[in-house]
Amino acid sequence: MKPIKDQYQRPIISLRITITNLCNVNCIYCHHDGMEYSKDEMTSDEIYEICKIAKNIGVKKIRLSGGEPLVRKDIVEIVEKISTLGFKDISLTTNGVLLEKYSEDLKKAGLHRINVSLDTLNPETYKFITKKDYLEKVKRGLIKAVDAGLYPVKINMVLMKGINEDEVEEMFEFTKKHGMILQLIELVDSENCEDDKFSEEYHYSLEPLEDELAEKADEVVTREFMQSRKKYYIDGGEIEVVKPMDNTEFCKNCTRLRITPDGKIKPCLLRNDNLVDLVSYIRNGDGEDQLKERFLIGINNRKPFNME
Ligand code: SAM
Repeated sequence: MKPIKDQYQRPIISLRITITNLCNVNCIYCHHDGMEYSKDEMTSDEIYEICKIAKNIGVKKIRLSGGEPLVRKDIVEIVEKISTLGFKDISLTTNGVLLEKYSEDLKKAGLHRINVSLDTLNPETYKFITKKDYLEKVKRGLIKAVDAGLYPVKINMVLMKGINEDEVEEMFEFTKKHGMILQLIELVDSENCEDDKFSEEYHYSLEPLEDELAEKADEVVTREFMQSRKKYYIDGGEIEVVKPMDNTEFCKNCTRLRITPDGKIKPCLLRNDNLVDLVSYIRNGDGEDQLKERFLIGINNRKPFNME
């Protein structure tokens, strides 16, 4: 099945499902993936149902996120169920705190790859950012994930002026040593940031850094369908750069639908005024055709964040 295209001819290739709002760290900058807080969570069967319809309309990739996806006690069961559907790619974004415990079981359950958020290798800085003392635990979890065969393991590093912008080299060496990929992320505004003028103080533009990377790189690749992100291959290692999403280039190349923790389709990362309820229809016992119809409404709602 070919992916369905929206009214701007963007194919819907991936589905990012926020399976919980809960998290076991409290990062100073967290934007919570643009999700509004909700107490309601989908069951593993409901998540499976949603993925089944997604598969039937041509979605190729599933990403599980949160909150922190690994705080769900049924995380392995969720992956196991989704993997029976035969997606080309199942991935998960995690802070890594529980990776030591779950890596092997997740791999066996059918998870392909993971992104792990880790902004620093300095224990004090880690504590300042997350308010927790889990750095060594995360590092052990990362090694376990590589050993379990999750591939690739990507480190998501949000750069902040005066906090960790001078740690790129050290983090790159760490990722290279362990066969991981480094993904550098530009800090964007979030509720947390706005409250305390955080982003004004700590925003660090990645543009000058990209120029440096381009000079050092043996090869630079632009990723089609991935918001035109650049990949830099340097000395046998790999660095990707993720720029802010509130721009037309990001929108033009966006091929992703999102699902909120309470089971609504979220057509755009940057708006919450066009959500489409899905899980209530599953709970009402609606059949595949009706659920597919809900998806099509969600896809039809995909208007860029800056349009009325
Ligand atoms: N708990 C999981 C984790 O830590 O990866 C998944 C959720 S977290 C919201 C997803 C990603 O968003 C993380 O890589 C995090 O670094 C990134 N992120 C959160 N707030 C951000 C912000 N204000 N600017 C840029 N990236 C941010």
